[in-house]
Amino acid sequence: MPQSAEKVLDHATLFHEPEYQELFKRKRETFECPASAESVEAQREYTKTWGYREKNLAREAAVINPAKACQPLGAVFAAAGFEKTMSFVHGSQGCVAYYRSHLSRHFKEPASAVSSSMTEDAAVFGGLNNMIDGLANTYSLYDPKMIAVSTTCMAEVIGDDLKSFIGNAKAKGSVPEDFHVPHAHTPAFVGSHVDGYDNMIKGVLEHFWDGKERSAGTSINIIPGFDGFCVGNNRELKRILDVMGVKYTLIQDASDQFDTPSDGHFRMYSGGTTLADTEAALNAKATLSLQAWCTRKTLDYIGDKGQETASFHYPLGVAATDELLVKVSELAGVEIPESLTLERGRLVDAMADSQAYLHGKKYAIFGDPDFVYAMARFIMETGGEPTHCLATNGTKAWAEEMETLLASSPFGKGAKVWAGKDLWALRSLMMTEPVDFVIGSSYGKYLERDTGAPLIRLTFPIFDRHHHHRFPLMGYQGGLQLLRTILDKVFDKLDRDSEIPAKTDISFDLTR
Ligand code: SF4
Repeated sequence: MPQSAEKVLDHATLFHEPEYQELFKRKRETFECPASAESVEAQREYTKTWGYREKNLAREAAVINPAKACQPLGAVFAAAGFEKTMSFVHGSQGCVAYYRSHLSRHFKEPASAVSSSMTEDAAVFGGLNNMIDGLANTYSLYDPKMIAVSTTCMAEVIGDDLKSFIGNAKAKGSVPEDFHVPHAHTPAFVGSHVDGYDNMIKGVLEHFWDGKERSAGTSINIIPGFDGFCVGNNRELKRILDVMGVKYTLIQDASDQFDTPSDGHFRMYSGGTTLADTEAALNAKATLSLQAWCTRKTLDYIGDKGQETASFHYPLGVAATDELLVKVSELAGVEIPESLTLERGRLVDAMADSQAYLHGKKYAIFGDPDFVYAMARFIMETGGEPTHCLATNGTKAWAEEMETLLASSPFGKGAKVWAGKDLWALRSLMMTEPVDFVIGSSYGKYLERDTGAPLIRLTFPIFDRHHHHRFPLMGYQGGLQLLRTILDKVFDKLDRDSEIPAKTDISFDLTR
């Protein structure tokens, strides 16, 4: 065998050894009844055609590689942004294992969440007993200050009522009557993780704010939205607000929860918006959402409570950061300090330095609605063309908003918006109308392999590269990081396309 106790091979090399190659060949021939290599190749070629694209885009009965997750994942992420809060997902255990693994594969951190572990009997008779036992166990085992309850498909299909179940569990003594147990119904068969985020934030605010009158203060609330880059972004955001001298509360801040140090202590809970601050946020002057499509219901609720609200689309780059800072400065009654103006100038300078390499580049962009909007806007700022803009969880209203954005710049002229389409559809789009780069999550690596357009990983989930989320994308400083990430790919591609000695290397330049 190719490996022994003295020489243990990683799977990346192990399965290339002749023994394994032979084994795979025999398995293919014996069990998989493969089509001939010619017919596979012919089919592969057919999937690159306009004819196949039309069929693919008309597809309704199946979804292949959707760029979205289900609602409860967003709820679990939302709950992770509050002080000592344990997510409790009422439903089946496997779903919760998926949320935990999805989050921990991205952040490279433990992600805690518990399940009420409903099985067949609960599916028939209802999950009340699971809720009663589950809340009692969570309270006594994990010592939380708050338990945030959401639901999987299973609990929603049978119609379990969280409010009455939690009331019953409290009456049975699972947790004290005054213990914080906000809840959100998060049916996974509608919407996506951004709706789950929205529902859970609203659920937490309702828990603390319902029945209370507000007395308006001067502070500003900021809701970051579902953001895989929260570790870098939230810290950058707080730095900017501190520099501006603004009084603020981040409603939901998972930056410390998903970035605990290795110092010999396991932290099940770290950081997050304190429960006292969450309660006091009712009295803020206004609430700003950094991701409008993640907070539609929440902002309606906050507006109904009498606060001014405003929303953005994941502010990236120059103009979007300008708009955010101007709004914050208006609301807080503070000037934008000179240090931030200098940061802005440095970003503009850096973009101008690299303009020749960015102008006219074509991109496919996929991800959550706010991210795609933001990235298309930034790409147009660099002189690039966002040729395909796709959000599986985008709505018709999102598509209209995108069209307006694209129409505002000559670089958006040839761009098309695809709401509700999956990554297999994007493959057809990229095969028939090729682009230079694709921007999205790790799931885009199959698009990179099939179409040859290099993938720039800039949104959740990023499983196959490490630590991207620790660096901000938002603000002017984030804009520099964003710019450098894109440029690195541009230059890597230029080098790769010009590296054959005595053939293409006339452009294998030392100085770019
Ligand atoms: S879609 Fe439904 S079954 Fe699948 S992980 Fe989400 S909640 Fe569970």
